[in-house]
Amino acid sequence: MAARTGDEYLAGLKDRRAVWVYGQAVQDLTTHADFFDWQHIHKEQCLIDDGRGGVTNVSNLIPRSREDLQTRHRGLERIARYGVGMLGRTPDYVNVTFAGFAGQPSLWQQAGNEQGHENLVAFQQEIAARDLSLTHTIIHPVVDKRVPDYEGVNLQLALRKVDETRDSIIVKGARILATLGPFADELAVYPAHPIPEESPDIALSFSVPMSTPGLKVLCRDHYGVSRSVFDFPFSSRFDEQDAFIIFDNVEVPKNRVFCDSNPDVFNMVIRRGWTGNIMQQTVIRALVKLEFAYELATRMVEVTGQSGRSEVTQMLGELWSYAELTRSALKTAEADAFDYGDGTWFCDERPFYALRPTLPGWMVRVNDILKQLGSHNLLAIPSEADFSDPDLAPLLDHYLRGADEVPARERSRLFRTAWDFAGSALGGRVELYERFYLASAPRNYSLAHMSAQRNREWNAVPEFWQAADDMPAVNFK
Ligand SMILES: Cc1cc2nc3c(=O)[nH]c(=O)nc-3n(C[C@H](O)[C@H](O)[C@H](O)COP(=O)(O)OP(=O)(O)OC[C@H]3O[C@@H](n4cnc5c(N)ncnc54)[C@H](O)[C@@H]3O)c2cc1C
Repeated sequence: MAARTGDEYLAGLKDRRAVWVYGQAVQDLTTHADFFDWQHIHKEQCLIDDGRGGVTNVSNLIPRSREDLQTRHRGLERIARYGVGMLGRTPDYVNVTFAGFAGQPSLWQQAGNEQGHENLVAFQQEIAARDLSLTHTIIHPVVDKRVPDYEGVNLQLALRKVDETRDSIIVKGARILATLGPFADELAVYPAHPIPEESPDIALSFSVPMSTPGLKVLCRDHYGVSRSVFDFPFSSRFDEQDAFIIFDNVEVPKNRVFCDSNPDVFNMVIRRGWTGNIMQQTVIRALVKLEFAYELATRMVEVTGQSGRSEVTQMLGELWSYAELTRSALKTAEADAFDYGDGTWFCDERPFYALRPTLPGWMVRVNDILKQLGSHNLLAIPSEADFSDPDLAPLLDHYLRGADEVPARERSRLFRTAWDFAGSALGGRVELYERFYLASAPRNYSLAHMSAQRNREWNAVPEFWQAADDMPAVNFK
């Protein structure tokens, strides 16, 4: 059985990784691992035949047809429903990326990188066979934005190859930001933004186990709370953590190196297909979350008897529109999927290029609307323990019930869910995630424009002028 259970995943986390939080090295990482059990509960959608007599997660599928993309859609949607889209970096995210890479030999094999490609394919098979959970760091930290990313003080931080032995390369530097870092089995590094040709030692792609000596995992503050699921439905279970990663002379075995100081490969692989591949996963997650938010908001206004107010219905319509536009863009991207070469199919990238910078703004607005609709109700929320108190419970039932006799407990649970979604410490972190997880919106609008210029001729203006010149002028008298 290649698809792991929660217990098997937890057993894999007990190693010698250097995870730091609040200035302390964490000795034993324990976490809930329900996510791995979820794939077994929903095996019809989440698991596929691995071709070796077992099963593997659907995110490891290398799509060879439009039907494969549909199979993957069903699985990714079911996975996203586990956290109603509040978990950005469930392991399917990196799995999808590596399945896409492994399906593109014509990209990875170029410029003398045959060995890197061979290693990559073997690693992708290992991810599927061992059901590995991966985090990734693809962004170079910049100290001074006045200086180009790979010059001066900024270049000093760049992850680079500093040495080589017969069987390994030694790397040093830092990367942002490993979501899921402390809970992952492996850390993957692969190309994101283009790098200068004259700095080949930073053109790296590889994967190492999280327990590799020299890997320092610096966690942000923990926003998870040891409270009931009723009180904090997200914070009690879904703090996926984010960590700054320092590679302090980390030894990477050569069979885990996919790009070794090769800027040609590094700068090419992200340009063909990555967006059409990975954004099927990210947009499915976003859609699940937007639909959840719309339903949550609708229930909130019913409980407060505000469903008939026009300014309220406008906001609900706005929320629904974001979900529906996302669904439509996803459907178009999937319907227009094609073979990107090597017999590997990804979605059409155009709708994704448009969504990538636009969705962050919608996600922030969703939270704004939830707060606007929720008002003080987001804080007048008795806890589960309050309802167990025999003196307090009848008072809560009387004073904190909802419209149409909705019980106080149900009302409280609803607004607690909304607060944890949009307003708690974890909710705030998820909002920041939405803004930046695929790089900043200004950067992505620029990319959208560049892609639009690359992929199509734009002649409507001269054609209009030509047609106008051929028409007789209207004489207004
Ligand atoms: C919660 C969270 C989780 C993350 N998880 C991961 C992960 O798992 N793996 C990973 O590799 N990375 C991850 N990231 C990192 C993410 O990829 C980077 O934070 C993101 O790329 C932004 O980096 P930056 O600040 O350098 O962006 P920049 O693009 O430099 O933007 C910085 C600021 O400048 C503004 N800006 C940028 N360009 C322009 C412009 N042309 N004009 C005007 N303003 C501009 C932006 O709006 C922003 O305010 C995560 C980030 C967050 C917040």
